[in-house]
Amino acid sequence: QAKRAGRNRYRFFLPSMNEGALERLGMEEDLRHALERGEFELHFQLKVDTTSGNMTGAEVLLRWRRPSRGLVPPAEFIPIAEETGLIVDIGAWVLEQACRKVVEWGERLPAGFRLGVNLSMRQLQGDIDEAMRDALAATGADPARIELELTESMLMEDTERAIGLMDRLSAQGVQLALDDFGTGYSSLYYLKRFPIHRLKIDRSFVSELPHDRSCAAIVQATIALARSLGLEVIAEGVETTDQRDFLRDAGCPECQGYLFGSPVPAEAFAALLEGRRQQIGAS
Ligand code: C2E
Ligand code: MG
Ligand code: MG
Ligand code: MG
Repeated sequence: QAKRAGRNRYRFFLPSMNEGALERLGMEEDLRHALERGEFELHFQLKVDTTSGNMTGAEVLLRWRRPSRGLVPPAEFIPIAEETGLIVDIGAWVLEQACRKVVEWGERLPAGFRLGVNLSMRQLQGDIDEAMRDALAATGADPARIELELTESMLMEDTERAIGLMDRLSAQGVQLALDDFGTGYSSLYYLKRFPIHRLKIDRSFVSELPHDRSCAAIVQATIALARSLGLEVIAEGVETTDQRDFLRDAGCPECQGYLFGSPVPAEAFAALLEGRRQQIGAS
């Protein structure tokens, strides 16, 4: 009996189990210095007009170049950044960098181009409207070029406060999109009250198009809902031409996904903009 308990206790401290906790702790420690050490970078993924394929905007996607570990995707470090509160400073940095890119790329950007920036729950609990104002003031970026991507679950926490924040952000001239739409639990009542410009249909519905009948119905209904509420709509995670064709026929004006391009570093995205300009110049 004692032997078994002893063995169990031993098992609890198995090195393999410690490794996970240590790795988590190491990541947290490294994350604390990542910003000052300049280890974050932004990648950019195209958004396109479903029918013409023309560029309508891009989404900023954060990456962490962790020394000796390579490029870390947000799913691995954003949760830790959220828990520790580090996301507030990281998020402010992302906002300012995004604004800098808008200024830097200037007239290479097509008319109506929007750069989408993801926000986290923690940022919305803080003074995100001030962070936005600071980023715009520091860079001189045109607020109409910035679109903030929020999720339903972020907005359902303290809805009245969130609506106030969204109103103040909207008043600054930035656009607001509801990301991963359909996966959260916002009511239609709130949807009407949120001062948002756009719904972003979640990848989980798009990936089952066109064969899954429920996903097809949900996507069509979302497009109709957006229309009747006077909102724009975009589909994320578009990977195949069949999906694109379905979305086009369903009247979804805008798409984003690997079919049109993966997220790429700033230099590669700038080259893409340059290529587009040369194309226009040649035609
Ligand atoms: P999200 O905002 O829904 O971003 C879309 C994710 O889907 C991105 O993953 C993107 O690379 C990926 N994706 C794009 N097209 C396709 C496709 O055709 N197929 C598939 N399978 N995936 C596609 P990523 O870059 O790993 O980002 C994951 C999430 O991390 C984002 O989801 C967003 O919630 C969060 N995130 C990214 N950057 C930031 C940031 O700067 N701040 C905050 N707070 N969150 C961020
Ligand atoms: Mg997003
Ligand atoms: Mg999304
Ligand atoms: Mg998503």
